[in-house]
Amino acid sequence: MIYPHITIYTDRLPANVAGRANGPLIRIKPAYKNDAGIHAHELVHVAQFWRFGFVGFGVAALLMFVPQFGEFAWAAPIAAAAGFGLHSILYMASKRYRLWSEVSAYKEQLKHYTDDRRQLFAWFIYAHYGLDVTQDEAFKLL
Ligand SMILES: [Zn+2]
Repeated sequence: MIYPHITIYTDRLPANVAGRANGPLIRIKPAYKNDAGIHAHELVHVAQFWRFGFVGFGVAALLMFVPQFGEFAWAAPIAAAAGFGLHSILYMASKRYRLWSEVSAYKEQLKHYTDDRRQLFAWFIYAHYGLDVTQDEAFKLL
């Protein structure tokens, strides 16, 4: 499933980054505009963002529309906002979540190339995300 998103092409990304997703906004360097794998990778992150957002939205709806939760209706916007912020917070705060998030995205990205890029992506995961995994451990997860 493709979730709502906006993709822009810009060179305003760090040198070792080809693409990045922040919430529903995807930024990809123009040199990778035709790289379906990078688009797929970032779309996985967009999906991760929306899935937490939907959970927050669901909790907000419960607070607003279920009479038993009526006294907590004031918290509905907080629940919705928290849902939409949760992916980013977990990504920044939890190495375990960040590893899962990136392995999921790289696994999807791998499907879009004819050559085997698992070693390259394992190295990316090892070198660029501040994770406590070796390249070999990352390779086994891909
Ligand atoms: Zn990623």
